[in-house]
Amino acid sequence: MTDRFDIVVIGAGPAGYTAAIRAAQLGLKVACVDAWRDTAGAPALGGTCLNAGCIPSKALLETSELFVQARDHGPAHGLKFKELSLDLAAMQAHKDKVVSDLTRGIATLFKAHGIASIPGRGKLLPKNVVEITGASTQRLEAEHVILASGSTPVNLKSAPFDGERIVDSQAALEFREVPRRLGIIGAGVIGLELGSVWRRLGAEVVLLEAQETFLSMADEQIVREALKQFTAQGLDIRLGARVLESKAEKNAVTVRYQSKEGERQESVDRLIVAVGRRPSTDGLFAEETGLLLDEWGFVHVDEHCQTNLPNVHAIGDLVRGPMLAHKGMEEGVMVAERIAGRESNMNYDLVPAVIYTQPEIAWVGKTEQGLKAAGIAHRVGVFPFAANGRARAMGQTGGFVKILADTHSDRVLGVHLIGPGCSELVASAALAMSFGAASEDIRLTLFAHPTLSEALHEASLAVTGQAIHLAQPRRAKP
Ligand code: FAD
Ligand code: AMP
Repeated sequence: MTDRFDIVVIGAGPAGYTAAIRAAQLGLKVACVDAWRDTAGAPALGGTCLNAGCIPSKALLETSELFVQARDHGPAHGLKFKELSLDLAAMQAHKDKVVSDLTRGIATLFKAHGIASIPGRGKLLPKNVVEITGASTQRLEAEHVILASGSTPVNLKSAPFDGERIVDSQAALEFREVPRRLGIIGAGVIGLELGSVWRRLGAEVVLLEAQETFLSMADEQIVREALKQFTAQGLDIRLGARVLESKAEKNAVTVRYQSKEGERQESVDRLIVAVGRRPSTDGLFAEETGLLLDEWGFVHVDEHCQTNLPNVHAIGDLVRGPMLAHKGMEEGVMVAERIAGRESNMNYDLVPAVIYTQPEIAWVGKTEQGLKAAGIAHRVGVFPFAANGRARAMGQTGGFVKILADTHSDRVLGVHLIGPGCSELVASAALAMSFGAASEDIRLTLFAHPTLSEALHEASLAVTGQAIHLAQPRRAKP
């Protein structure tokens, strides 16, 4: 007999598990199929994010930053360590525990919500039947199917993964020794975060980026500051460097790349390929379903994540939009609620983005170059962390907060941050913008002193030349 569910979700990453939990909360009978196996071969929920993405990378970033703080900044605070050393195995064990605690947590949540958690690989067949291949093959009938199979790293012909010397981001989280010299192809978010981890622990890091600039989705002023600070940390970011060929030998990888100066070559111990991710559609659906993909290979969906097939939705990295866990989670909530008959929408204009380097980089809304290109008149308020008391006490004075506000309505159109604590500060900006705040609304809000969040307040004051801790040129009375 085939089991029947209101919803079958394929994929238990942040998008899929959130959809499953929200649907169960709304009283629907839900099954969630997932193929992920941990290193011991046991099923593990949470997808890329928990097992090989957001969470393990943040654990390693946190530990490596503690190490840098103690080693490089401790003395300025009067802290001296006689023998500060790194126990990489313990660092990895800490990360592994964070991951396994969280993935087990999802299993507990599934149980608590009565969600049938089915290990195996799911495939959508016609008439909303899902075939699952695992220990055995079974079929589930579903009123609704939610596709949430996520994404996988892009493999480059010029640097094919060998799992040993030329690796993807997942393997780069598992190094058992610090590479002496590390090459990274792609100075995107993942390349910069992984580069930061291993640089902090002592590796020489060379990032080869094909474009003449990097982080093209960020505000250009932020990118200039980031390049300055990353370079000062010893990250060797080479722009306009297109990789042509990589050769792995016994103890090293030779990378040949094209730069403005001509062809160049680098020898590294290990090479991480971090040039982006592609949607996981292999084997996800039978041709006869007629499921439509877009020209980039993502499952084609409308603004409510509805595919071209009735009662089939797709969410998360599998569909257009930024490949971010919280974007997928919010889509999961929206889709579950719509299936349950609620009017639910998602505001794609306010998806915050964060890069967890040091300094942290975060933003929400429009960039200044985007506003200029669209011809939208705007005012800019910038406040540097160097003038913020808390940042000075922390000894982290680089970076700034930048607010872009519409010249006519004063509505905040974008907030861009680089500096300490920005991954948390961006939430206040997103909150204000989701209520349609004007820069004056932030100005009229009280922020505790001394906090990093005062930099956001001061940036809102700076929009009209009124920042207190900044010598701004005198402007006409606001
Ligand atoms: P996934 O998390 O990829 O989950 C999909 C799941 O579906 C997987 O378990 C997969 O095994 C399973 N699956 C695939 N096909 C099938 C099938 N046919 N049957 C059954 N199961 C299947 N995002 C952030 O927001 N913040 C960060 O800090 C961040 N850091 C990252 C760091 C790294 C190194 C990487 C690689 C990514 C990072 N991301 C981050 C991106 C984030 O991980 C993804 O956006 C997020 O995981 C997407 O969620 P998802 O649910 O769509 O897919
Ligand atoms: P992201 O999309 O944030 O993961 O970043 C991936 C980065 O890799 C982008 O900045 C791309 O420009 C860069 N990239 C893609 N292909 C190559 C290549 N062959 N050589 C160097 N950089 C590349």
